[in-house]
Amino acid sequence: AKSEGKNNFQFYRDDLNVKAHDRLLLENRIRSAIEEEYFQLYYQPQVDVRTGELVGLEALIRWIDPEKGVIPPIEFIPLAEDTGMIGKIGDWVIAKACEELKAMHAQGLPNVKVAVNVSPYQFKHGAHLCEVIESSLKKYDLSSEYLSLELTESILIEDIEETILSLNKLKGLNITLAIDDFGTGYSSLSYLKSFPIDVLKIDQTFIRDILSDESDKAIVTAIIAMADQLGLDVLAEGVETQAHNDFLIEKGCHYAQGYFYCKPKPLDELVEFWLAR
Ligand code: C2E
Ligand code: CA
Ligand code: CA
Ligand code: CA
Repeated sequence: AKSEGKNNFQFYRDDLNVKAHDRLLLENRIRSAIEEEYFQLYYQPQVDVRTGELVGLEALIRWIDPEKGVIPPIEFIPLAEDTGMIGKIGDWVIAKACEELKAMHAQGLPNVKVAVNVSPYQFKHGAHLCEVIESSLKKYDLSSEYLSLELTESILIEDIEETILSLNKLKGLNITLAIDDFGTGYSSLSYLKSFPIDVLKIDQTFIRDILSDESDKAIVTAIIAMADQLGLDVLAEGVETQAHNDFLIEKGCHYAQGYFYCKPKPLDELVEFWLAR
């Protein structure tokens, strides 16, 4: 039994070494992807459910590796966040989103906003974040009303006083602030009214089974009603079917986003798809 325990330990330790090694490899690959700018933004429409009008485009990053092809964010954003590399990636995303939104306005999608995901690391470095936003808007001659930031609920719970100060600074730039993945974190509902936010994005896990799951139905109905009471816009993500969409319209949800409307696509494809619809 004793030697078996030792073997298990040996196995466990080797496994950890492999993981540490893989992590280091990935970290180096991300670092060179940043230098080479091997990233691309895909865009997914955010739509007014009643009119079908395009109101926004969420920018979703992809890593385009010359050998491995398109790598989704789940495979590199967490490590980029842990190592702080997300700082540079996030700066690139903001500037690129502004540049490409300007192009999309010119290509026939006027008056549309771009929504950018902001990570906890970026939110913690708020002064830098504000500078990058201001300089990007200026560089591409975009009005601040065209930029929206998506912040996950977990960002907002750490130090409430500090969070309110940071949010007020961002809101002072006159941009739109949305809470992403709403309902999955533990943010206290009572703080919602002290946060200068504009939009609640209902997490897609609540939408998926909304026609069959009674608790999902209740949660989504309650979030829409609460948003309404607080004067916030509400956007449902992961809308995949007509039935999802019909349910949301019936409950008074304002905006939706999901495969039912359009999958995330690179700029040119998105513009072409949306204009030909
Ligand atoms: P998120 O912000 O919650 O983005 C929504 C995710 O759901 C996207 O995955 C999108 O492609 C996917 N999605 C959209 N519609 C549907 C649908 O109808 N059904 C289903 N099943 N999925 C749908 P994606 O692009 O892989 O992004 C995953 C996550 O990576 C994002 O979740 C966001 O947290 C993060 N992310 C993406 N781009 C960035 C970025 O530029 N910066 C940071 N910090 N995070 C990013
Ligand atoms: Ca998002
Ligand atoms: Ca989300
Ligand atoms: Ca998410």
